[in-house]
Amino acid sequence: MHKKIIKLRKEISKHNYKYYISNNPEISDYEFDMKLKELEKLENEYNDLTYTTKKIGEDVIKCFPIVNHRYPMYSLNNVYSKQEVIDWETRIKKHLKSSLEYVCELKYDGISISLHYENGYLISALTRGDGIHGNEIIDNIRIINSIPLKLKGNYPYDIEVRAEIILPLIEFKKINQERIKKGKKPYVNPRNTVNGLLKQKNKNYLECLECFVYSIISNNNYNNQYYNLMYAREWGFKVPESVNICKSITSIFNYIEYWNFARYNLQYNIDGIVIKVNNYHQQAILGYTSKYPRWAIAYKFKSQRVITQILNVTFEVGRTGVVTPVAELKPIFFDGTTVKRASLYNEDIINKLDIYKSDFVIIEKGGNIIPKIIGVDFTKRTTNNKIKFINICPDCNTFLIKKNNIYYCPNEIGCYSQIIEKINHFVSRKAMNIYNIGSNTIKQLFNAKLLHTIADLYTLKVKDIMNIMHISENNAQNIIEEIEKSKKNPFYKVLYALCIPNVGEYIAKKLTHIFFNIDELIFADYDKLKNINNIGNKIIFSLKEYFSKDYNILIINKLKKNGIKLKKNDI
Ligand code: AMP
Ligand code: ZN
Repeated sequence: MHKKIIKLRKEISKHNYKYYISNNPEISDYEFDMKLKELEKLENEYNDLTYTTKKIGEDVIKCFPIVNHRYPMYSLNNVYSKQEVIDWETRIKKHLKSSLEYVCELKYDGISISLHYENGYLISALTRGDGIHGNEIIDNIRIINSIPLKLKGNYPYDIEVRAEIILPLIEFKKINQERIKKGKKPYVNPRNTVNGLLKQKNKNYLECLECFVYSIISNNNYNNQYYNLMYAREWGFKVPESVNICKSITSIFNYIEYWNFARYNLQYNIDGIVIKVNNYHQQAILGYTSKYPRWAIAYKFKSQRVITQILNVTFEVGRTGVVTPVAELKPIFFDGTTVKRASLYNEDIINKLDIYKSDFVIIEKGGNIIPKIIGVDFTKRTTNNKIKFINICPDCNTFLIKKNNIYYCPNEIGCYSQIIEKINHFVSRKAMNIYNIGSNTIKQLFNAKLLHTIADLYTLKVKDIMNIMHISENNAQNIIEEIEKSKKNPFYKVLYALCIPNVGEYIAKKLTHIFFNIDELIFADYDKLKNINNIGNKIIFSLKEYFSKDYNILIINKLKKNGIKLKKNDI
């Protein structure tokens, strides 16, 4: 069981990093929270609470000054069901003698900030960081219009304001359109965009951000949450109208129900509701755990789901010959994009979810924008049409083979999709990074019989490219120059670019630490490979199979001849 804790900690660290630092989440908040809850449970069982569950996500970034928070910035305990709200109320009621009143607020989906005002002037703006230290980003914060630099009215001398910085949906759309125009990758979602914008040095788009205040810390006499928020409005802060006092659990549930639908009419994203005990005295009695206040919880909405119909099921062949079923869907607009297709992964998943050909399926978007089919609306099923997996390749008509429940087209030399996708992989950013060759160029050159394998890239001529692609000499010359530049890529990139099944970037790097040139790797014995950390039988088998094919050795030799680095620099 202890192994499970280690595994979960690793996974959570990885997802935390992807979420907060590289702004590229891989799983939904819900999936993340479920992992965290599982870990918390295990850590409790093993009485080992030293790690992740105590740590609040979001790391501090080194290029901004790191400052201690005067008061820690806590996280919120997330719940996903009404029963958990009832349980929470039962728990806190045990500690309180007087009657209870709640404030319900929306959980604005952005990045939190702690603003310090002295004598009405903004003097510091810290990110949450690890909850104890944050980054000082006041220079960026000053540009946001809804954050007053000088307060109005009758404000206390020293105030700490906790607020959420959000990006309205319309601005998110605008920023992404501009990025796409400039050939840049669009941001994944508004929240990650805010994170990226706040922690940049060059202050782009900061004026598009907005700030909603959700908490005030000061030694004034307004001893409850609601009054403080109302006063904050008078001092010049933005506090959304949705803040509401709820006197019973029923009215909390009404609030939840209302916003579960009404959230789609808002101009910004929310990911739940925050329920807080209103009275500060009662808050003090309940106190905090190491991670969150006991006097508040967040009721999180599940990711948005929609139902649409499968119009057709097609099959795609990937670069290593894996055949993936894809559901062509009746287009549906949701969460910012129009969804037309979704992967059905493999036969097992189709069977597990029991998906039929023209079913109405439930679609969810995870942390990233890739839509996922998570179930079937069985009430709408009208036909008895099971999805049949094909047994011949849709591209080259070769009989498919089935390994570990996955179908492959074994015709790697002659299968159009495999050829194109392999070259696509070779030129991709993480591999050889030949940025001005895309899928269409590859197809055109292939059709003209000039490009059949990755090695052929290095024998292309300016004249050929000009004629086939109908482009100027200059542009053709640029393509050749980028191909030429790619010869400088280090050995590990080339190894990754070769597209050996199961050899990703990380494994390629590992292998090139041990083997100094491709021949050493080709002739490596099993034991030497087996002794490398993280290299198991699956990878060894892939390597052996790849190098056993004359066709691949021929390509490697051609690459060598053309000066591509198939050895480490220093030898
Ligand atoms: P979590 O990100 O799950 O740890 O939840 C805590 C965060 O929710 C806080 O740090 C705030 O950034 C954010 N939040 C958004 N809206 C509110 C709100 N109305 N009250 C308190 N926290 C909020
Ligand atoms: Zn094929």
